Amino acid sequence: MAEFSFELDDDQKAVRDWIHGFAADVIRPAAAEWDEREETPWPIIQEAAKIGLYSLDFYAQQYFDPTGLGIPMTMEELFWGDAGIALSIVGTGLAAVGVLANGTEEQIGTWIPQMYGDAADVKVAAFCSSEPDAGSDVGSMRTRAVYDEAKDEWVLDGTKTWATNGGIAGVHVVVAVVDPELGSKGHASFIIPPGTPGLSQGQKFKKHGIRASHTAEVVLDNVRVPGSCLLGGKEKLDERLARARERAKSGGERLKNAAMATFEASRPAVGAMAVGTARAAYEVALDYAKTREQFGRPIIDNQGVAFQLADMRTRIDAARLMVWRASWMAVNGRPFESAEGSMSKLFASETAKQVTAQAVQILGGNGFTREYPVERMHRDAAIYTIFEGTSEIQRLVIARTLSGVQIR
Ligand SMILES: Cc1cc2nc3c(=O)[nH]c(=O)nc-3n(C[C@H](O)[C@H](O)[C@H](O)COP(=O)(O)OP(=O)(O)OC[C@H]3O[C@@H](n4cnc5c(N)ncnc54)[C@H](O)[C@@H]3O)c2cc1C
Repeated sequence: MAEFSFELDDDQKAVRDWIHGFAADVIRPAAAEWDEREETPWPIIQEAAKIGLYSLDFYAQQYFDPTGLGIPMTMEELFWGDAGIALSIVGTGLAAVGVLANGTEEQIGTWIPQMYGDAADVKVAAFCSSEPDAGSDVGSMRTRAVYDEAKDEWVLDGTKTWATNGGIAGVHVVVAVVDPELGSKGHASFIIPPGTPGLSQGQKFKKHGIRASHTAEVVLDNVRVPGSCLLGGKEKLDERLARARERAKSGGERLKNAAMATFEASRPAVGAMAVGTARAAYEVALDYAKTREQFGRPIIDNQGVAFQLADMRTRIDAARLMVWRASWMAVNGRPFESAEGSMSKLFASETAKQVTAQAVQILGGNGFTREYPVERMHRDAAIYTIFEGTSEIQRLVIARTLSGVQIR
């Protein structure tokens, strides 16, 4: 187990500076344009692929960094550049983690490389869990997967929504109901290979923020995939379902849903994205406050402005510390006994919303226009308290974990 340290080593610092360089030189200058276009910034993903920043190797290296700091550091720097473009670059990772968490070695080796493609032919992947009637309440999921034993195929039908990269992805990872009696314990994840008939993109959403990231419905109409596309395999699924049925019958302790455990471990990464956006807005506000003059002096000369900046920076640092702690715990297999993963996501995402709003205020009229980036950062920050579990759901997880009571 790696000792927890706040000190990045020389290699980590070099990687951080390299990502920061890409974020400052390539992502940030393109941010306003792709926000207006509301399209996936393919040329930027390609640039990232060319230098190895969009690649399986790079993410695997960061993901398995025993200090736990590789992923938060990467997320913070990319999202400091721009949240919409950064999500286009890292969105594939959500699908990859879904396969890594539940797939066999063969599935991991077959599908994750295809999710990224290569620098000459870049691909993205999508993770599709949410549905129109199943957002926070994943137990209400309706997309069905039925096993056709004669053909050793699974048949999927249903509609997924709000899928990042949905429809434009090569590989889609789809969560579906295999046993409706078991609620969220009766779910399983499937690979839908590129070009599978019956999978199509539904509505593409026009959004408030992170507009460079593609979000759409994914329609599954009689989608047939080979048995080998069930993540983890049939034997493991049958065992898991049998255990869940047994527990349901005996009314025993609830099994922890595997998907929920994955979310808990991946939440610090979303916290790190939020820290990146918050830090970006804070830096713009600090510079502006030092140069903007009113009443014959820079506005930072007023405690009313300076103290806001002090609070902003304090919250950002606190959020980063919580994210780093939770990431270290996740990588080193420490149980989140106090829901530290959810705590880090809750605090960091609320911080991003608050800090970006303060930045808009400090820039006054300019903060309200698209001439300055804080307007976009403020819109972007709103997503962090919504996806990967809303702030209310994080509070629910934390409160249940601390109290042992099934608070509703
Ligand atoms: C831009 C974007 C990208 C996304 N990407 C993906 C993706 O790639 N894959 C994917 O599967 N999903 C994705 N999502 C979906 C996202 O995870 C859901 O939007 C989120 O889980 C919330 O679900 P919901 O929108 O249905 O809100 P709802 O669950 O309807 O919640 C509405 C409100 O009610 C509150 N609420 C609900 N239940 C409770 C409760 N028990 N106690 C207190 N308050 C409660 C919520 O906190 C929220 O404020 C994405 C969403 C967006 C907007």
